[in-house]
Amino acid sequence: MSDQPRTSTARTDLERQAWPALSDAALDVLRAHGVERHAEAGEVIWEVGQPGYPFIHLFDADLDIVDRGRDDAVVVTITAGNFVGELGMLMGQQTFFAGVMRSTGRILVVEQDELRRLVATVPEVSDAIVSAYAARRKLLIEWADGALTIIGDDNDRTCLGLREYASRNRIPFRFVDRADPDAMAAIGQSRDLPAQGTVAIARDGAVLHDPERLTLARALGYELLPEIDELFDLVVVGAGPGGLAASVYGASEGLKTLTIDDTAIGGQAGTSSRIENYLGFPTGVSGSELAYLGEIQAIKFGARVAVPYRASGLAHTDGHFEITLEAGPRINARAVVIASGARYRKLPLDNLGDYEGNGVYYAATELEARYAGGTNAVIVGGGNSAGQAAMFLSRHAEHTYIVVRREGLAATMSDYLSTRIARDPRITLITHSEVTELRGDGGLKALTLTDRRTGEATDIETRALFVMIGAAPNAQWAGDLVRTDDKGFVLTGVAAGAADSPFATSVPGIFAIGDVRSGSVKRVASAVGEGSVVVSSVHAWLSDDPPAKQKAR
Ligand SMILES: Cc1cc2nc3c(=O)[nH]c(=O)nc-3n(C[C@H](O)[C@H](O)[C@H](O)COP(=O)(O)OP(=O)(O)OC[C@H]3O[C@@H](n4cnc5c(N)ncnc54)[C@H](O)[C@@H]3O)c2cc1C
Repeated sequence: MSDQPRTSTARTDLERQAWPALSDAALDVLRAHGVERHAEAGEVIWEVGQPGYPFIHLFDADLDIVDRGRDDAVVVTITAGNFVGELGMLMGQQTFFAGVMRSTGRILVVEQDELRRLVATVPEVSDAIVSAYAARRKLLIEWADGALTIIGDDNDRTCLGLREYASRNRIPFRFVDRADPDAMAAIGQSRDLPAQGTVAIARDGAVLHDPERLTLARALGYELLPEIDELFDLVVVGAGPGGLAASVYGASEGLKTLTIDDTAIGGQAGTSSRIENYLGFPTGVSGSELAYLGEIQAIKFGARVAVPYRASGLAHTDGHFEITLEAGPRINARAVVIASGARYRKLPLDNLGDYEGNGVYYAATELEARYAGGTNAVIVGGGNSAGQAAMFLSRHAEHTYIVVRREGLAATMSDYLSTRIARDPRITLITHSEVTELRGDGGLKALTLTDRRTGEATDIETRALFVMIGAAPNAQWAGDLVRTDDKGFVLTGVAAGAADSPFATSVPGIFAIGDVRSGSVKRVASAVGEGSVVVSSVHAWLSDDPPAKQKAR
């Protein structure tokens, strides 16, 4: 944290977004739903961890945001004319910091529930507040201030996993590398920390040793699960692009919506460094930025998003559906959207993640084909998708290699494709082999193939490796109830025996969208489209009269 006192003064573009003045129209609405009062310097307006802390507008006084975990250091002073709050307020999260009046004056207090209602329904209020709060979360991340300090070894997997969890979920954190004596000294000699492993220090000073993600989320007050007896109109399982779209449309159309995800908002798309084929972003958008924008939109409309919670079972009981979580209570829903996506099968190589999106690709469309231009393309996999990719990429690449572990393609690829490949001088099939090493700084430059029979190693220079060894659906948790195809993808529409909606599964009231659906296109745009459209089918199901539903079951 810098020694300079921070105030709500706009200097950079991000600060201008974070500290806007409220318009007269917005202030009038807030005044009509809040209480104006006098506040004394030193008065604690809310304390760390207080649920439901209020929205405050400061007419003529300043307020300090105070970090109790760091000897009451002032994180930022909100000056007169500005307002208090952060994204977590709209999500019902606990606060990281306390709010203490710096000077005496008049304030406007609006209760948190009321603020959320106004944000969801009054454009003047949401226009000012949502974008300011989103920018403030970015500022907190930039300052590395807030909820969490992670101490560990830079290359340790647990440590990387926790940092990835915090970063993908936009939890402001700072990382302290054990190998850096100055950084270790800066966090204080007085702390009695475990000498090994990864240590997470929560904002209230709680020290967690090698914590699970859920333990960490709980310690940070990110546990946003509903009461056990709460009945949601719609529960969406999976917060990838499809699930987020269903949340936005569900909540904006008045459904009481809860979305859960076991990892992070954004799904597979959130891990993509650049998505260039999504409408409206001609120069591309990073997956995490797209996910953040979608998350804010869902929150704005009042959807509740709970991470990290893994669904492990689905049943219907007493006229509604019950979703079992691996840890936590059961969730009750009148309708369920399965949006738990798929995971591309990956190569078992330690540094694979360093090259994903930067030399390693899981699709071969025009987009990825550009990366194969002027280099060798290497395709791993012997199925039809690998064969089609080879035919396509061979028009762009210097030379194209197909690498398979088997002795050939006969057992896995259609005859017409394998015949074309055999005749094409621009394609070479390498059998009995697997990729054993990836190399390159700032992107893939070369890889090593090893012959499984002889152990002989061969190097290939390439900037484009295409992994096409199949995608596995994340549907096991629901697979006992809904019908799936032979690969485990959820059947929908006519294939599932449901003629009324293309996204209806074999069980009325349960729908499936995006990559988890049998026959899906496996693109961001198609998942988003399906997530938007499915909500009208959910509405139709919910408006059905109960006897019809009982009969359907
Ligand atoms: C590296 C990469 C780059 C890509 N680039 C592009 C691109 O440029 N353009 C494009 O159009 N497509 C791209 N794709 C494909 C695209 O990301 C997917 O098609 C899209 O994300 C599918 O969205 P979805 O919502 O159906 O599922 P997913 O994105 O798979 O999201 C599913 C979510 O469900 C969660 N989940 C799974 N099981 C459970 C459970 N039991 N309980 C709770 N939650 C669960 C997962 O953690 C995940 O967050 C890319 C994919 C990858 C991996």
